[in-house]
Amino acid sequence: MFTQIEGNIYTIPVALVGNPLKELNCYVIKDDERSLVIDTGFRMNECYTALTEGLAELGIDMNRADIFLTHLHADHTGLAPEIATPDTRVYITHEDGGRILYRLRAGFIDTGAEYREQGFPEEELLHLNDAPSMKYTMNKFLSFTYVSDGDELTYGGRRLQVIETPGHTPGHACLYDRENKIMFLGDHVLFNITPNITTWPNFRDPLGHYVHSLMDISIYDVRLPLPGHRAVSGTMAERIGAIIEHHGARIREMLDILDANPGMTPYELSGRMTWRVRGKSSAWSDFPLSQKWFAVGETAAHLEYLLCRGRVKRKFDGRVWHYSTD
Ligand SMILES: [Zn+2]
Repeated sequence: MFTQIEGNIYTIPVALVGNPLKELNCYVIKDDERSLVIDTGFRMNECYTALTEGLAELGIDMNRADIFLTHLHADHTGLAPEIATPDTRVYITHEDGGRILYRLRAGFIDTGAEYREQGFPEEELLHLNDAPSMKYTMNKFLSFTYVSDGDELTYGGRRLQVIETPGHTPGHACLYDRENKIMFLGDHVLFNITPNITTWPNFRDPLGHYVHSLMDISIYDVRLPLPGHRAVSGTMAERIGAIIEHHGARIREMLDILDANPGMTPYELSGRMTWRVRGKSSAWSDFPLSQKWFAVGETAAHLEYLLCRGRVKRKFDGRVWHYSTD
């Protein structure tokens, strides 16, 4: 199944079974010479079927198509090695591509230590490898073609500028068709869900980078924003303003809780924050574990933002970090 968006730009909805994101929007710029596929879906059977059927219906021959990966997340990259042929160029930034290759070489990412330091109980840490980000990620090596900020790719008569937008991942990138005022956003700006911001090894202050990257893209004239998930509502400028306000409100809530409860771990603090899961307010005790990884990561990213700006202090007790406002 596919939908024509405008001219030679199409989207293939790739259902992310069991995931609150619902679908990945795979975009295709179709051209008789060489087409471009933007993002792919999880490495799971249902995604593979949806993607390959959509590409076949569109008449895309992967021997004459390249892939642009907006960022390293499994729901965007998982199927790239499954659909790429030896003639397919796979574009990604060096930062995110390098992290994928590092994980493939290591066989897994040992994030257990980091989650333990955020206060996750041991029994929950046992299930870390069940997370979709681990299960459905690409598991074959791929030779990447690295792109950087300002690079230009040309497909289907469209000149596409690479804009690096670190934050959601360390090497996230958008693609901008200046002539037609179209931006392929990946997960940098989503419209009815807020992109997850979490902590990373060797990438300090992800939320600070993210807000900076929101400002970076706000200088572009965008008539047609194309996000990696869900539909568009309102303008991009309105959405950027709303996302920044959302993070500001989260930070204020966090500071109030920490003022009253000094010494909390990121896990404990997450348990006191207000959350919405699948559109509904949710108590921490009802949280599915798969969502706790995101929630605590998000809390930790906000704490790191405050730590970098001298608004909170932290102490390590030999096992877990504890945060306070004074
Ligand atoms: Zn993502």
